[in-house]
Amino acid sequence: MVAGERVFAVGDGFPPGLSQLTVLPRWPSLRYYFGMTIITDPRCTEYRAVGHPEKPVRVSRTVDLLKTQKSLELQWAEPGAVRDDQLLRAHSAGHLERLKTAEDFDADTPFFPGIADHARRGVGGALKAVELARAGEMSFSLLRPPGHHATRHHAMGFCYLSSMAIAVLEAKATGAKRIAVLDFDVHHGNGTEEILAGVEGVMFASVHQFPCYPGTGAADVAGNCFNFPLPAGTPREVWRATLVRAIERLRAAQPDLLGVSAGFDAYERDPLAQGPLEKDDFQWLGQQVRAFGVPAFSILEGGYSVDLPELVLHYLLGLAGK
Ligand SMILES: [Zn+2]
Repeated sequence: MVAGERVFAVGDGFPPGLSQLTVLPRWPSLRYYFGMTIITDPRCTEYRAVGHPEKPVRVSRTVDLLKTQKSLELQWAEPGAVRDDQLLRAHSAGHLERLKTAEDFDADTPFFPGIADHARRGVGGALKAVELARAGEMSFSLLRPPGHHATRHHAMGFCYLSSMAIAVLEAKATGAKRIAVLDFDVHHGNGTEEILAGVEGVMFASVHQFPCYPGTGAADVAGNCFNFPLPAGTPREVWRATLVRAIERLRAAQPDLLGVSAGFDAYERDPLAQGPLEKDDFQWLGQQVRAFGVPAFSILEGGYSVDLPELVLHYLLGLAGK
């Protein structure tokens, strides 16, 4: 099937214009592939700190590649609007205020003028991605800053707002019954975990290097957060087999929606960690997400190699069934 082609399977009761995730059928295979949408906003490249690895070219060069490549037909969208009450499901009011205070959060996580708005657009990308998943579209939110280290009360690890946790809680508040989150960034998604720990109907699985930043993720938490720590030097085959175990753990919970915190820093040439994955592995990961068989959305987390644009393209090709 060609990306962008709109195909309906007859007899499945799945007309366009769905308003509730609850009426989405569980797909044994993703037969409804309505296209692939990239959510981005050029303003996300408007802040930077000299020498910081989380830099604007991560997104701008990826956008450039995605706009010139010929392998995939892509649609483009902007982040959706974000309400305070959506943020406040995941973060304290004090944290939202703190984001406006011109003082660095920690050595990794500088204050930038307008960072609260940049982070809010990151959340808006995740919310838009959920909306597209609900409509049967594959989507990828290509924005910065990332979000999976931001906790309820603190910005940390280049992250200011937990876009994934906010998106999951929004999906839950608007009809999704069981939501799974796969975090394949090389770093443990401590912020997503903290906010979603113990939330009914939500399952979180993270495959990450350990010991490594942020130092959490050694064991399962709260009965719904499953951690798969792997030491530096783990062979590629073992890393992939562990990703399969994480995906199977989530699949066993029979979710009706899958969110993916897509970090590309488990790549063998990433400067921030010692993961073993190769370009083809990210395509394989996209194929696994597609084969999961339920509506899915992905958001960019880490990934600091100069090859990031190609890694994202490989992942999208996999998501598209290529
Ligand atoms: Zn990371």
